[in-house]
Amino acid sequence: MFFTSIQKAGSRFFFYFCRMDETEKVVLLLGSNIEPRKQYLEEALSLLEKKLGKASVVSNIYESEPWGFEATTSFYNRVVVFKTGKLPETVLNICLQTEELLGRERSEAEGYTSRTIDVDILYFGNRIINSERLMVPHPRLASRRFALLPVAEVMPELLHPILNKNQGELLLECPDQSEVSIVN
Ligand code: AMP
Repeated sequence: MFFTSIQKAGSRFFFYFCRMDETEKVVLLLGSNIEPRKQYLEEALSLLEKKLGKASVVSNIYESEPWGFEATTSFYNRVVVFKTGKLPETVLNICLQTEELLGRERSEAEGYTSRTIDVDILYFGNRIINSERLMVPHPRLASRRFALLPVAEVMPELLHPILNKNQGELLLECPDQSEVSIVN
């Protein structure tokens, strides 16, 4: 009887240990260029935490000029990292729901436009995903200083699974030299 309970407890521990191992680090980039930008970033973080649990790391907020389109208000960006056992498609749906809840409007026009909030998946563990709905690592990450700087701040050693370089190395080689500064 005693040994059976020990065995049961042992297998339960093993089960939870394996489940713990199944979590992956998902690195998200939040961006806003419609006021109140800081509040949109904060609300996005709290909505994401309701679905994904407490963020394990949060970067500083960075300010940068709009990239690839004209707008009067600059962007605020921040990286947040979650440990999750959820599937990438599920996390993408959570990101899109968060954008919708914060009033993100999608224009029919091609290219970039102003947005209350944008939530992009930069990395999902060391997965490489090329589906119709999802590309991970984010295909434009290595060419955007406003995305690389906050990731390099919180996870400098994280390896890009395709380019095989860490975030510091990607930043040094980044062709984009536009100004990106920390917001105090
Ligand atoms: P955007 O206009 O930049 O917010 O693009 C959103 C669309 O890009 C979504 O409907 C996704 O299906 C698609 N997408 C592809 N890869 C990613 C990614 N890594 N993170 C977020 N959205 C992505």
